[in-house]
Amino acid sequence: MDVRNPRTGQRHSRIDATASGDLVVFCQELKKAQPAWAARSWAERVAVLETWVAAVSTDADVLDALSVDTGRHRLAAGEISGVSFALSQWARFAAEVFADQSSRRLVADPNVTYTTRLFSYPLVGVISPWNFPLLLSLLDSLAALVAGSAVVVKPSEITPRFVAPLQKLIDASPELGPVFRFVIGDGRIGEELIKNVDTVCFTGSVTTGKKVAAAAAVNMIPAHLELGGKDPVIVLASADVQKAAVSILRASVQATGQACQSLERVYVARSIYPEFIKALINEAERVELNAKDIRHGHLGPIIMEAQATIIAGQVDAAVEAGAKKLTGGTVENHNGGLWIRPTVLVDVTHDMDIIKEETFGPVLPVIAFDTPEQAIAFANDSDFGLSAAVFGEEAEATAVGVQINAGAISINDGGLTAIAFEAEKDSYGLSGLGRSRMGTSGLKRFLRKKAILTRHAGGAGIDSLREHRD
Ligand code: NAD
Repeated sequence: MDVRNPRTGQRHSRIDATASGDLVVFCQELKKAQPAWAARSWAERVAVLETWVAAVSTDADVLDALSVDTGRHRLAAGEISGVSFALSQWARFAAEVFADQSSRRLVADPNVTYTTRLFSYPLVGVISPWNFPLLLSLLDSLAALVAGSAVVVKPSEITPRFVAPLQKLIDASPELGPVFRFVIGDGRIGEELIKNVDTVCFTGSVTTGKKVAAAAAVNMIPAHLELGGKDPVIVLASADVQKAAVSILRASVQATGQACQSLERVYVARSIYPEFIKALINEAERVELNAKDIRHGHLGPIIMEAQATIIAGQVDAAVEAGAKKLTGGTVENHNGGLWIRPTVLVDVTHDMDIIKEETFGPVLPVIAFDTPEQAIAFANDSDFGLSAAVFGEEAEATAVGVQINAGAISINDGGLTAIAFEAEKDSYGLSGLGRSRMGTSGLKRFLRKKAILTRHAGGAGIDSLREHRD
């Protein structure tokens, strides 16, 4: 595969994709090795993973490769430290999930007891996107490995450089190597992977998510889908306007807007609208690109070239239909890489793609509202339902927040889901399917329950089936 460098636009890296036949063999080998991995205690599995994660955290090659993949340094380092944190949390949840396997009496017959035993799915497949390539490859993988499954991961073909140094560290671990493997390739390898695993975790677009769900249904395996969003934020008249503008700008443009939980629609009470817009623009214009120096500035490049076309297309179409750009709004080419500054749009309407479709860029379309009811109706006028935010007096903001059709609501901040590991959340609308990735549920997704039912006394014979009039 030719791989593009997001900072230079050059396509000089060539990376070999995994052959379909090799994928099948890898999956067979992983399944063969999994029972021995599952036979270890969860604490032993965590200890093996801790050693591996410590090696990843100090490996300069992983950080360097991830920085080239994404064109950013601080967030690449953040992805790596996020992996250590994730493992510590899965370990905490494992203690809870694996704790209670004691025997209980059945309500229907106290002479029968039951225990619930947990069995991990043999092989979990993980398919991940390009926006946080390492973290989104490892989040579900670590949970599945802690649960006792073997894991095969197919990361995005847009950002595959980090895989070689990571796989080298996996191969260096005699315990982990047999049960954990990355494969490389585009959607075709993703399709093959689904045919060879027992459960699939997919993070990516709605369009691909639907294909993954259909393929999983054909193979009768569970699919856990974490898809796109169009997160709204409501700023009530009772909000601290300056603080709201500062938080909203950060939560919208973080990672150049290439985050599923980016705030992409801003609804502001009309009474504070002029003050809010002024504060938002002030904050937006402080933002610097990291185009000259990867270690300087706030925003990295747009990682996928085609995304730049989507962002520019949505902004231009909105402007053509009557929206006004107050700041930003143009994709800039710096030495072949593509960047875009925070973009504030006003005079936007709900029929525009900039409000309806995921943008995945640092664009904030702002609309004024007259009543909280109208704001809630705007927020819910969407096919998506990933997360949302509300700013205002706490009780009022919470009362508004609970009426938004989304899996997580941040009150007086934006994008808190990025740090909330223990707070379980489900997706609404097109934003996903399956149980919460976060909290103990994230681990339980990889465990099948088996009920062991034991009779201690009594028991029915054929006469228990005789009709009463016989
Ligand atoms: P994408 O759907 O284009 O690709 C995701 C992955 O699916 C890639 O690895 C790709 O190769 C693979 N793929 C493509 N076709 C496939 C097929 N037919 N079968 C199996 N696999 C296939 O998404 P993307 O552009 O890489 O990522 C951006 C999207 O991801 C955005 O919509 C974003 O909102 C979403 N996302 C969601 C979350 C979340 O937690 N909800 C997090 C990050 C990103």
